[in-house]
Parts: sequence; C-alpha cells; structure tokens
Amino acid sequence: MKDRKILIIEDEKPIADILKYGFEKEGFLVRCACTGGEGFELACREQPDVVLLDWMLPDISGVDICRMLAEQYTMPILMLTARGNVEDKLYGLESGADDYITKPFDLREVIARVRTILRRFDKAEGITESGQMVCGHLTVVEREHSVYSHGKLLNLTPKEYELLVFFLKHPRQVFTRTILLDRIWGYDFAGDTRTVDIHVQRVRKKTGLENALVTIFGVGYKYVP
Ligand code: CA
Repeated sequence: MKDRKILIIEDEKPIADILKYGFEKEGFLVRCACTGGEGFELACREQPDVVLLDWMLPDISGVDICRMLAEQYTMPILMLTARGNVEDKLYGLESGADDYITKPFDLREVIARVRTILRRFDKAEGITESGQMVCGHLTVVEREHSVYSHGKLLNLTPKEYELLVFFLKHPRQVFTRTILLDRIWGYDFAGDTRTVDIHVQRVRKKTGLENALVTIFGVGYKYVP
C-alpha cells in the first residue's frame, strides 16, 4: 500500500521530534505543526490519512481543532494528552477523536494504535488488505494505477485516474476547481480551471459516475457515493 501521510500537531518540540522520527522510520510521510492554527491549515491543505493531535496547544485547544476537523473531514484523529482522567477522555472522544493516548507514551504503542485506526478506517472505506479500494461498481487497484468497472478495466489517463481516486477518497467533501488544480496538477501548472471541468466530464463518462460526481454550481464538485 502507498505511503501513509500523518499530521502531527504538537507544540512540545522534543515530543514532536520523537513522533516524527518514529513514524518516518515506519515509512510514514510526516507533516508537523506546532500550533493549532497551523495544524488545521495543514490538515485542510494536505489531507493526511491520520492526525495525531495534542490536547494542550498554545493557541486553540486540541479538542476544538478536533471538532473543526471532524465537522469537515473523515480522517481519523488520535488525541494525545497528559491528562488521564475519564471525563477528559470522554470529552475528547465526543468531540470526534477516534482514539486517545496519554503522555508519557511508549512510541511503539502510539504507532500500533495509529496502525489499528488506519486498518479500521480502511475497512470502513472499503479498502481491502491487498490495497484495493471498492466503491460501488468501481474497484481501484492502487499499485497498478488501474480502475475496474464491473470487473472491466477502464481506459483512464493518469490525470483522470488521479482525479477519480481523489474524489473516491474524499466522499461528500466539496472541492473548488482551484483546489483540484493544486492537488492533481500542482501549483506550478499553467492551465486554468477549465481543465478541471473537462477532466471531470471525462471521468463521469468513463466511470458511469454521472450522478455521483456532483457539480456544486459556482463552487466546484463533490463525490456522493
Ligand atoms: Ca502541548
């Protein structure tokens, strides 16, 4: 399976460094933020597969960040905190966290818990052990960069493939054309937002997702499974 991206939001540098070291060693792509604001922005921009979030941050509390993220995104969140009592734990979980770990922690335990969350999450998202993602009549085989519709291989260009997989991985989220351009084509791409419209049209036609890839007029697109 491809490298997983983890976002660590933690203001205590020594702790952030240990986590970064540990997850990089495990093959994760690691992004770090030391304030809540920066963390939230990175989460929106980079769409990590999982977020490791400290409870006590200098600007916004981890619980508030957690709530903001859970409102907009489906990525799993693991809360880190020095507090250990039951009320805090429940409060954290109510705000949208998927799991909870108390400091001081054992690095191996944090990694194991993150892996467990990702496995559980993949299952819920329809990603199988072999790295296949099943979304209705479509099956994505990421290591082959191919998509099958009712078992038949679709003829997609690389950009059409990337666009489709991006939508499938972020159901029900609205993306503007500009964001899609940045994500799929990159910041330095010279084309304009018409490129996005053309590709969405083609992807709709080739995949049979005419009704699932919804146009949000004046805004952009979203995928509704
Ligand atoms: Ca802290």
